[in-house]
Amino acid sequence: MSLLIHNVLIFANNDQNTVLEGHAVAIEGSRIQEIGGESELKQKYMQFEQFDGGGRLLMPGLINAHMHFYGTFARGLALQQAPSNFHEILKLLWWKLDSALDLQAVYYSALVQAISAVKHGVTSIIDHHASPKAVAGSLDKIEEALNLLGLRGLLCYEVSDRDGEEIRELGLQENARYIQKCKNARQENPDHLFDGMVGLHASFTLENESLQKAAELSKTSNRGCHIHLLEDRVDGDITRGKFQIGVVERLREFGILGEKTITAHGIHLDESEVDLLAETDTVVVHNPQSNMN
Ligand SMILES: [Zn+2]
Repeated sequence: MSLLIHNVLIFANNDQNTVLEGHAVAIEGSRIQEIGGESELKQKYMQFEQFDGGGRLLMPGLINAHMHFYGTFARGLALQQAPSNFHEILKLLWWKLDSALDLQAVYYSALVQAISAVKHGVTSIIDHHASPKAVAGSLDKIEEALNLLGLRGLLCYEVSDRDGEEIRELGLQENARYIQKCKNARQENPDHLFDGMVGLHASFTLENESLQKAAELSKTSNRGCHIHLLEDRVDGDITRGKFQIGVVERLREFGILGEKTITAHGIHLDESEVDLLAETDTVVVHNPQSNMN
């Protein structure tokens, strides 16, 4: 593809928040070749396909940094019993829903959201997936759906002890398999649009052995973890009751934190925990709408 986009207002998303008027962007294949003055580039790239942006804003694609595609099926869903707290929301909604997924449902959940993403300017999605009755190959199904729309994906399977040891092991294997698959694909094509992480549900549903195995996989595969962190007080309460330690401290002890790791929510952090995340350069993703629940 050789494309020249002109008649646009360009937001460069650099450190200076540069906004460019009267500029055009030349794209060759999957890369931006040049950004420059509109009339100059129109001359220089005369042979490129010309795209008139109609005066719209042109900016880098948005990144959704914490997603659950299977949430598609919860849209407009009415529960028979209204949950009275976060743990009940998990038990009555999310854990029932993800247990009902087969691989076909996983594929369509991702496809619906992928279309929605494109419509809203999102080009990269970091998904945190769970389908305990259909673990093996589930990340491939999500990749298949995103691929259809040309989206970039960073995928992982949510390891947890809530469904027993067998499902936990399958989750770890799915992460390891998918990470390796993406590494192989990148060797053949450096522009491969997918990669994997080590997915973990949350401290309160993970035994020590599970954290240890996940940390090992993270280290050997050189990929970070993606885990919910203090989305609700129950994460801290159960962790402290069972393991006599705070959640952030526990994750640090197991080597889960670090610059490659994504923690989602972080609603109930105290100051020392914020410091610990900062010291370890751990990424925290906020989800304002979800956090209003
Ligand atoms: Zn989440």
